[in-house]
Amino acid sequence: MPRIVVVGSINMDLVTVAQRFPAPGETLLGERFLSVHGGKGGNQAVAAARLGAEVHMVGAVGDDAFATSMCEELKHEGVDISHVARIENCSSGTASITVAGGENEIVVVPGANAHLQPSHVAKAQHLIASADAVLVQMEIPLETVEATLRTAHALRVPVILNPAPAQRLPTECLQLARYITPNQHELAILLGADADEDFLSLMRRAPCPVVLTRGAEGAWFREESEPQHQAGFAVDAVDSTGAGDTFNAALAVFLHEGLAVAVRKACAAAALSVTRLGARGGMPHRTQLETLLA
Ligand code: ADP
Repeated sequence: MPRIVVVGSINMDLVTVAQRFPAPGETLLGERFLSVHGGKGGNQAVAAARLGAEVHMVGAVGDDAFATSMCEELKHEGVDISHVARIENCSSGTASITVAGGENEIVVVPGANAHLQPSHVAKAQHLIASADAVLVQMEIPLETVEATLRTAHALRVPVILNPAPAQRLPTECLQLARYITPNQHELAILLGADADEDFLSLMRRAPCPVVLTRGAEGAWFREESEPQHQAGFAVDAVDSTGAGDTFNAALAVFLHEGLAVAVRKACAAAALSVTRLGARGGMPHRTQLETLLA
């Protein structure tokens, strides 16, 4: 059972479905409301746990009712939350989403996620030291992302940086990652390149190994050699929310089997995730993945 440490965000997505968007100052009656557990960190932790890994979450929640619900949900999925900090006088991370006429408007408030500090990573150092892989994304402060990369690198534990939401990062920082897992758009931002630069050329000049996701087309990966392609798995796609999170989780869980195998399994797991609604709705359990790969 691989041991995975996830350092990242935990959010509650608050989704309102309405006929149309309200005008400024207007109050509108909506049709439906639902709250959904999210955050890239929480999502990747859940996906890794469903794939059979021992998962430890390093994150932060506030002191509101969402915090309790989010922690309970992670525990229910089998994720260890002993390193999820409760931040006093702070809201939990939220994404307020209004959906109308097939479009959406989203306001994200990082809340407690913005208080996840390098000191929280330091407290989890013993877990990182014995991990098979560490996963980190960019919905937490940059200094905490850097601290995670430095800690894992120093302990020679492979660390996967999922650079989303993307922002430019210093080369020295990227070089600490064992792999970065951007899509084309994110890789261009990360490297400060033109948005229309060819993805293969971006991959060749990245300062660290890259696993690049390409939606239904699958993924490309490159260590020292030329980029190689792993085709996507054909499925009936319903909702691609959470595909990237499932991909990253599976990559971490199966990394010890070698990069090519891990990328193939990550494509398979992510393909299964798009067959159901919601980020966590379609995240497969190990047996479902084995069935697809058999
Ligand atoms: P992101 O949403 O982060 O840009 P992608 O859309 O590239 O991520 O999806 C991540 C991975 O999920 C892809 O590399 C692929 O393996 C899988 N995937 C996404 N969409 C589909 C699809 N329609 N069919 C099969 N696999 C998919």
